[in-house]
Amino acid sequence: MKVVLLGPPGAGKGTVAKQLTNYDGSVQISTGDILRNAVKAKTKLGLEAKGYMERGELVPDKLIMDIMEARLQEPDCAKGFLLDGFPRTIPQAEELEVLLAKLSIKLDGVINLDVPKDVILDRLTTRRTCSNSDCQEIYNIKSKPPTPEGNCMKCGSPAVQRADETVEAITVRLETYNEKTSPLINFYEKKGLLKTISSLSSDKIVAEITAAMKK
Ligand code: AMP
Repeated sequence: MKVVLLGPPGAGKGTVAKQLTNYDGSVQISTGDILRNAVKAKTKLGLEAKGYMERGELVPDKLIMDIMEARLQEPDCAKGFLLDGFPRTIPQAEELEVLLAKLSIKLDGVINLDVPKDVILDRLTTRRTCSNSDCQEIYNIKSKPPTPEGNCMKCGSPAVQRADETVEAITVRLETYNEKTSPLINFYEKKGLLKTISSLSSDKIVAEITAAMKK
């Protein structure tokens, strides 16, 4: 499937994308993961992106579009992709349209994960992420804890709180979402591509998406 996952930070885009990769071999493309790996590896991209990310602000559109233009042409995208955290601004969505047309790729749809603000805040402050860049499994200290030692159940690496999961950075990320990303709901609605799902259970969300894909 070729799908965009839309929703505020903490809506469950990453968890749902990871589950959906088992459905038909589509790959998860998380611009946040790509950027975090670049920051860790101290590449030119990482050094440019670090400050924006730590403050909870968006990285400039140009950097993101360069990443996506290259990523979407990698062979593993042929079976399909789940765009997790991209596009995040109207200019990115417009450039994505041009890029997809150039690559003769048609989007199946855009899934808008609609989650109440109190749930989002609770999830973001209790989230832990596997620090192994090849794993990045997502945990929650209340509902899906890592091992008692605080390690990833899958690979054993420490499950840590992300640098942008301080209360200050979370506040900026949510404001940024409201201002820059939420207009995409209307953008994709007008194109007839949007499906909004309000469930809090990732299993139910995945079931709804896969059922919609079969239609
Ligand atoms: P995420 O893991 O999707 O919450 O992304 C973490 C951070 O990476 C965001 O707060 C932004 O600083 C940056 N980022 C990720 N995706 C994008 C994007 N499409 N456009 C701009 N910045 C992004």
